Amino acid sequence: MRRRFRKGILMSDPDERLKMKTLKIAMICMHSSPIGRLGTRDTGGMSVYVNELAQRLARKGHTVDIFTRAQDLKSRKVLTPLHNLRIIHLNGGPCEPLSQRMLYPHLPEFFQNLERFRKEGGIRYDLVHSHYYLSGQAGRWAQERWRVPHLLMFHTLGSLKNRILTSGKEPDFRLAVEKSLAVHCHRVVAATEREKLEISRMFDVSFQKIGVVPCGVDLEKFRPLDPMACRTRLNLDRSLPLLVYVGRFDPVKGVDRLLRAAAKLRQQMDFRLVLVGGGGEGTPEVQKIRMLCEHLSLNDMVRFSGGRTHDDLPLFYSAADALVLSSHYESFGLVLLEALACGTPVVATPVGAAKDIVRNGVNGLLVSDNNPDNLAEAMGRILKVSAGQVFSRESVRATVSFYDWHFVTAAIEQEYEELTKGPCCCFSSREKEEENLLILDRGGRG
Ligand code: UDP
Repeated sequence: MRRRFRKGILMSDPDERLKMKTLKIAMICMHSSPIGRLGTRDTGGMSVYVNELAQRLARKGHTVDIFTRAQDLKSRKVLTPLHNLRIIHLNGGPCEPLSQRMLYPHLPEFFQNLERFRKEGGIRYDLVHSHYYLSGQAGRWAQERWRVPHLLMFHTLGSLKNRILTSGKEPDFRLAVEKSLAVHCHRVVAATEREKLEISRMFDVSFQKIGVVPCGVDLEKFRPLDPMACRTRLNLDRSLPLLVYVGRFDPVKGVDRLLRAAAKLRQQMDFRLVLVGGGGEGTPEVQKIRMLCEHLSLNDMVRFSGGRTHDDLPLFYSAADALVLSSHYESFGLVLLEALACGTPVVATPVGAAKDIVRNGVNGLLVSDNNPDNLAEAMGRILKVSAGQVFSRESVRATVSFYDWHFVTAAIEQEYEELTKGPCCCFSSREKEEENLLILDRGGRG
């Protein structure tokens, strides 16, 4: 089998892969629905990742059950988007949206319902793939009960968030749970080599236990369109330079920094900024950003386009001269991949996956930090460069060709193959299992 290593990522050519056995996979994504409204508080890159990956695994013959928490009474209990893919909504606390911090005590109920579903269906899963520490904890209970391998992806880490946030720090129990999960699960998959290093150092976990698989992009869906036709369709100004932001309005995304930079740049040039995402008018996060716009007198040049589906986004990316992402942290940087796949250059802070994706001067600009002065300078520079058509759409798109979902799916399959190939020798001891089940009985309070 020919293998390709790119930036430390092990990739296997999907066409050349040996046919692997098909697996029954329990995918746990408790706090965020894989089919939730993208751009809202807790629904972003991770939901896209789970949904896209699961669909591709199912198309390749694996059976995938995604377990997520029922967040409203309307959500149907079991959905079957594809022949061997199910999305199973389970009760875990009140059937309404809850902040992540409220969810931990409801994990035991969620897991008990998962276990009931499995038993009633007489299902034997080959492995558990969990996302984020909350699902990781449920995944750990599953690994102990079912005696199957457990692959965990953290997506973000509490300690990293704490380094960034000035208020609303992540609770100590999250940090403790993350450490314990890193030690006791069978495999951790990180999105970048840096994340791998961080996890290994922070949790004292061996390098060999951590794989690296980046996020993917749908190159069929995200492709360059005629910019002016897109602006007309979206009813956007055709004569002025245009910047776009796409994503959640979470403090970690630094939208406030972006607006402050826009206010500075405005003193030098006229342009428009479109913000796509957020939880909708009336939500506190959108209100906050609207108030800042008002305060900075940006109302006439900033447009709020609300949350949009992936079907609409290629229009926004293609219409723009550049995408700006002024995040304090990025686990995946999916919107960077999507914009670049549409041939649109990006301005981004050098955080998380952005450092791998953005190649300074080739497909965009990496700003040293999200200080509004530095951001404004880079935003102005990219608009000038874009006007000069220095970045050709084709060459920008070419920089993300190896992030195609085919490669990501193949790399994850390879991880599964390694994990399920022999008898799993790294199950925790009986003692550990009992301790774990005790936590479950105590309502997840550890
Ligand atoms: N997204 C979307 N509509 C919106 C806002 C965001 O579909 O209105 C999608 C976006 O296209 C991307 C994901 O949400 O696929 C965000 O992922 P990213 O890795 O950029 O950020 P995260 O949410 O993980 O911080």
